[in-house]
Amino acid sequence: MAIARPAYDDVARAAERISGAAHRTPVLTSRTANERFGAELFFKCENFQRGGAFKFRGAYNAIAALSPEARQRGVVAYSSGNHAQCIAYASRLQGVTATIIMPKDAPATKIAATRDYGGRVQFYDRYAEDREEIARGLATEQGLSLIPPYDHPDVIAGQGTCAKELIEEVGRLDVLFVPLGGGGLLAGSLLAVQRLARDVKVVGVEPEAGDDGRQSLRRGEIVHIAPPKSIADGAIVTHLGAHNFPIIKDLVDDIVVVSDAQLVEAMRFFAERMKMIVEPTGCLGAAAAFNGLYPIAGKRVGMILSGGNVDLAVFSRVVMEQAPTSSSNAKGA
Ligand SMILES: *Cc1c(COP(=O)(O)O)cnc(C)c1O
Repeated sequence: MAIARPAYDDVARAAERISGAAHRTPVLTSRTANERFGAELFFKCENFQRGGAFKFRGAYNAIAALSPEARQRGVVAYSSGNHAQCIAYASRLQGVTATIIMPKDAPATKIAATRDYGGRVQFYDRYAEDREEIARGLATEQGLSLIPPYDHPDVIAGQGTCAKELIEEVGRLDVLFVPLGGGGLLAGSLLAVQRLARDVKVVGVEPEAGDDGRQSLRRGEIVHIAPPKSIADGAIVTHLGAHNFPIIKDLVDDIVVVSDAQLVEAMRFFAERMKMIVEPTGCLGAAAAFNGLYPIAGKRVGMILSGGNVDLAVFSRVVMEQAPTSSSNAKGA
């Protein structure tokens, strides 16, 4: 079966659909960062997006693209993270009912946030049941539209609006770093770059523990891995999407990986120097740039800070307790 491949025109249409609903997030710069890395850095701050992550873009676009009849029946999504929250929020804004399938042991704060955004939560047992199967079952029985977190043309097109805005705002870039989980953000960014700024090298960044994207790029086919363990909870997928991989394979320059320690270091940098909270997954691109995993010296470098949803207890623990080794000898002895 042929797989529908979104194109730049779909990104442009998504930009029109989400205009006025999604925030046009700020692009911040930091003189400290520029001096430290000898480059000109541009941070696209999706941690300030509605719902706290870029996933609002794809969610809103996918719901807006449905027929009036489908919107009347409602949507269903599965995720314990940003996608669920953004689907619930984007649905409410469009007067659409959203059912979110969540594990019954999901953190209470996440369940509450999804409900606050107007989502109907349906629980499942993640040790005994398959959430995709439950979602597909509901979709068939109740005529709901299933909106997956990344493997969907309208989701990819919506996520592409973020890189589109960045390029429109800063003009020429040499390199763009993009966090990579299932590939919605990366595939969408590639579509935007291909049309608007062909010369930009786009680098996808995954957690070290879940390098299925890098393996897939090397092998030329989607590689499945066991569920990885990483602090980057928005990117611990087991494989890239079927709609996402062909775009990534054709257009990405490289896929690199960063460690959890490097993510924590980047979180500390944003908190300390730029006074903002970026969630671990949102730091993937920046951590790759900061650690020289792709050359940036003397270049104009964009990076997407993809989200800011992190439990405050987790945030304070990681930024306070895991001081980077580079500063551990600053005092004492
Ligand atoms: C989902 C998510 C990602 C990964 O996006 P994909 O489209 O799955 O590749 C990165 N950062 C954050 C904050 C996310 O929520």
